[in-house]
Amino acid sequence: MEKILIIGGGPAACTAALYCARADMAPLCMEGEFTSEMLPGGQLMTTTEVENFPGYPEGVSGPDMMADLKKQAQRFGARFEYKSATSVAFSDAPLKVTAKDEVFEAQAVIIATGATAKYLGLESEQQFLNKGVSACATCDGALPRFRNQTVVVVGGGDSAMEESLFLTNFAAHVHVVHRRDQFRASKIMGDRVINHDKITVEWNSVVDEILGNDEDGVTGVRLRDTKTDETSELACAGYFSAIGHKPNTDLFVDLLDMDEAGYLITKPDSTYTNVPGVFACGDVQDKTYRQAITAAGSGCMAALDATRWLEGQA
Ligand code: NAP
Repeated sequence: MEKILIIGGGPAACTAALYCARADMAPLCMEGEFTSEMLPGGQLMTTTEVENFPGYPEGVSGPDMMADLKKQAQRFGARFEYKSATSVAFSDAPLKVTAKDEVFEAQAVIIATGATAKYLGLESEQQFLNKGVSACATCDGALPRFRNQTVVVVGGGDSAMEESLFLTNFAAHVHVVHRRDQFRASKIMGDRVINHDKITVEWNSVVDEILGNDEDGVTGVRLRDTKTDETSELACAGYFSAIGHKPNTDLFVDLLDMDEAGYLITKPDSTYTNVPGVFACGDVQDKTYRQAITAAGSGCMAALDATRWLEGQA
């Protein structure tokens, strides 16, 4: 029987593991498996340079930062296993988490399964990932590759608006490509984008292909007009997918409270879910900030909530 089992391997999970380990809980962290879509360590494993995590004045690569966070938690007795939860049972104590055919029992569970950025699904997106393709302008927008260059943002929601406005700080020009003739984003954000002199909106357009080569990475996109089907090429050095995120909560449907987009709902100012002993932290319950540092902060909160809750059960 585990005292605390953590599902996830990103900054929220590792920070929760660090705090639980320092509270002598010897937590077990199921950090995920190596698959073609995801690596243990979460979204940062596909981020080249992290410049906004406090404590790394020169910046750090995403994988190096995750290795540091994991090592720090292991130093105090946290255990990590390359396993993915495949089902959970939270109806009675002890809580149960299954990874394929192995069942783990735990007194408390911290869910830090994160979210997955959505991509259009083009092969060229994968080909040029980190070579001009990104799903996080906040993470990557300031990289030298994009400075004073033309970049493209795909999407018409608040994320696309926020990302394109942020990119105007670095890029020479930003093209927002949206498949309809109206944004889904709030009017205020949409208006800011429409009225910005460094942004052009390509209405009724989709990206059909990302163009580039191995040496330079992204060099352009092929656009298709959704009304006329005509195609055109737009030269650019960057392509940012901003068509939303999907929280990784399929396992918890009908078990835990979630909002209409599938994000876990935690009680205000805490990481408590609706099931006693189950806590949630990081991007799986945060659709607003979605930063490594906010995920780490909420991982700390989950560890403190879980350890205090366990003390209360004794
Ligand atoms: P979203 O609101 O779901 O918007 C996704 C956008 O991507 C939509 O415009 C959608 O087009 C487009 N899209 C989706 N799939 C596509 C595809 N396959 N091809 C082309 N376009 C596609 O997602 P979000 O912008 O990430 O926002 C998620 C939530 O977080 C929202 O509630 C949002 O308000 C909130 N948020 C708030 C802020 C803020 O207030 N500062 C910032 C970011 C996010 P359609 O419009 O045609 O469906």
